[in-house]
Amino acid sequence: IWRPETFRVIEVPIENRLSLGEEYCKVHKKSVLKCRLTERIHLEKRHSSKQTILAKIDISANIDSMNYSPGDHLLLFPNNSPALVSGIIERLVDAPDFDQVLQLQRNTSGDARLDRNGNHDSWNDWGRYPPCTLTDMLTRYLDISTPPSQELLNILSSQAVKTEEKFQIKRLVNNTRIFDEWKNNARPTILDVLKQFSSIQLTPAFLISQLPLLLPRYYSISSSLDATPGEIHVTADVLEYQTPDGIKHQGVCSSWLNNLEIGDEIYCNVRKAPLFHLPNDQSVPIIMVGPGTGIAPFRGFWMQRKNDMEHELTTRNKHNQSFGEMYLYFGCHNTTADNIYRDEIRQCEKEKILTKCFFAFSREPGIKKTYVQDLIKRNGRDIYKMIVKENGHVYICGSIQMASDVKKMLRRVIQSWGKKSESQVDEYIDKMKDENRLHEDIFGI
Ligand code: FAD
Repeated sequence: IWRPETFRVIEVPIENRLSLGEEYCKVHKKSVLKCRLTERIHLEKRHSSKQTILAKIDISANIDSMNYSPGDHLLLFPNNSPALVSGIIERLVDAPDFDQVLQLQRNTSGDARLDRNGNHDSWNDWGRYPPCTLTDMLTRYLDISTPPSQELLNILSSQAVKTEEKFQIKRLVNNTRIFDEWKNNARPTILDVLKQFSSIQLTPAFLISQLPLLLPRYYSISSSLDATPGEIHVTADVLEYQTPDGIKHQGVCSSWLNNLEIGDEIYCNVRKAPLFHLPNDQSVPIIMVGPGTGIAPFRGFWMQRKNDMEHELTTRNKHNQSFGEMYLYFGCHNTTADNIYRDEIRQCEKEKILTKCFFAFSREPGIKKTYVQDLIKRNGRDIYKMIVKENGHVYICGSIQMASDVKKMLRRVIQSWGKKSESQVDEYIDKMKDENRLHEDIFGI
């Protein structure tokens, strides 16, 4: 339970501030590096119902620490929307000036009023956040958009002045069904809660000590360092959805990335994904399955392959490397609106970097709904040969549901083309996993 006498904010000299990079490292207890946005391309046609962007990020200043391979992830540390931040600050009690550098202190004496010697309060830096302005705290470090948990609402109820509001909040705390309805109907942010229960009196010390940390978001890297030196590319869906109350919401990180100015700073780092790398032996066949933004890591794969093939051409006599077949299965709504990377894929097909590309359209007028797994079924003979006869690798990227459907279809293909029993298929899939030939990069439900 929140006790106002336990936390306070004090103003500290601006010299106490660290650089933003150091602040992020302290807050997240990991290395976070400053990079810059260099370009953003809208991949969908204007009339498409959703937006997907290709963001290019200059990492040249941190190239040693951010060395990556196709298949790795980028960890992005987003900013909250300025409107949400200023809306919250406007409603705070005792809000400091926007440029004041604050430190959150905790009273560490057993008794809130007395220190260990029984004399004075004993205030110390709380330590979780470095000194910074309230605006930066709300913009960079605190999660102000996820609906408050029942635990947080319970603490908030103690700050409501009106008894009726205290009671209403307590109902949300004590009845999970009512809480879930309330949460799902509007996905309220902390600002929405302050508007709904306007008698809540919040101080900066409350917010900083009670709100959860704003977590970084993962993105599958869509480039290859060899092909785009000093850059990381990401392919991101700009998340927008409507709740039953009719309000439109935007995802924190994807909308921030979509609204950054070119040249703006981006705090990020690479997370290695060694189980989703291209095989060491380039001659084995590869099947890549990635509908929607699931295509993200495969752009890195084909860029890498193109680079390796060109390199091989110039050094052919030395290595005589041969490259295995590369099949791509991509799914989207229709041929025009969201067929992202269509031209790039066609070009790679023409240059024989991608051996074959298959497009599944789920909303193409006049055509039966088709998903990537339907195309895998259709190409069963090739798929069987590539996986079982030639020890190929399968890469699946995207939602859990899609990955599960694709794996079911792979099982069926292996079973019917290999004339295997259920248990033999189980054995074979286990063998693929043991040999690290079945790779998954899962995001979204
Ligand atoms: P947030 O502000 O985090 O909002 C997301 C939340 O909104 C959801 O958790 C859900 O609670 C809620 N929500 C979403 N839709 C609805 C709805 N219809 N109704 C009600 N509530 C809803 N994304 C990419 O675009 N490209 C990638 O390459 C990529 N790679 C990833 C790799 C990994 C390993 C992981 C874990 C994730 C990856 N993601 C990728 C997803 C990405 O990390 C983010 O989750 C995504 O961009 C949304 O973040 P956001 O901050 O914009 O949205």
